[in-house]
Amino acid sequence: MAVRKILTISKHEKFLTTKSEPVHKINREIKALFQDLRDTIEENPAVGLAAPQIGVSKRVFAVLLGYYDEPETDDESEAELPPIEPTIMVNPEIVEREGVERGFDACLSIPGMMGYTDRDLEIRVKYMDEQGNKQDRTFAGWDARMIQHELDHLDGILFTKRLESLDDLYVIAKDADGNRIEIPYPEFVRKTTQQVIGKPLSTTP
Ligand code: ZN
Repeated sequence: MAVRKILTISKHEKFLTTKSEPVHKINREIKALFQDLRDTIEENPAVGLAAPQIGVSKRVFAVLLGYYDEPETDDESEAELPPIEPTIMVNPEIVEREGVERGFDACLSIPGMMGYTDRDLEIRVKYMDEQGNKQDRTFAGWDARMIQHELDHLDGILFTKRLESLDDLYVIAKDADGNRIEIPYPEFVRKTTQQVIGKPLSTTP
């Protein structure tokens, strides 16, 4: 029904770090929320979107399952793949976890940044689908990672809180040729500071 504005950490940190409320009934209001999540994810470069990111404090998110799965063939026909329909999960709960995998997290609510985190490799999730049916499914790899990222949003946890240190945080930028580059956050801060205050402080006399 509507593409909603994405709340970002710079203006809405308090809301984004607040735990969301469970959904008690699939009513008209919640169905409108499902549609807004679908419409908004479609308009954004994202594989997942949680209700609090569009300003609704409810335990609901949408994820594009299978997004990072390897295509069957290795020809260059990726553009031909049909779009993945978002899967909506209501009141999701991780009931089993196994293994750990390091991978990257990025978030529409923290634009221009990405980070490397350890997340559970395989998870068993109980949730309610859009029709209100109970589901019990197991996910692995990227799907498991996406679900953990979105579920964190419902608990008011942003991926920056999952970093072991700021060395795992990167700023996404473009080089002189317009290629995407990742600058380690500590290096970015050092360079920016040098630009702002002039020469770096020298420790030698
Ligand atoms: Zn996010």
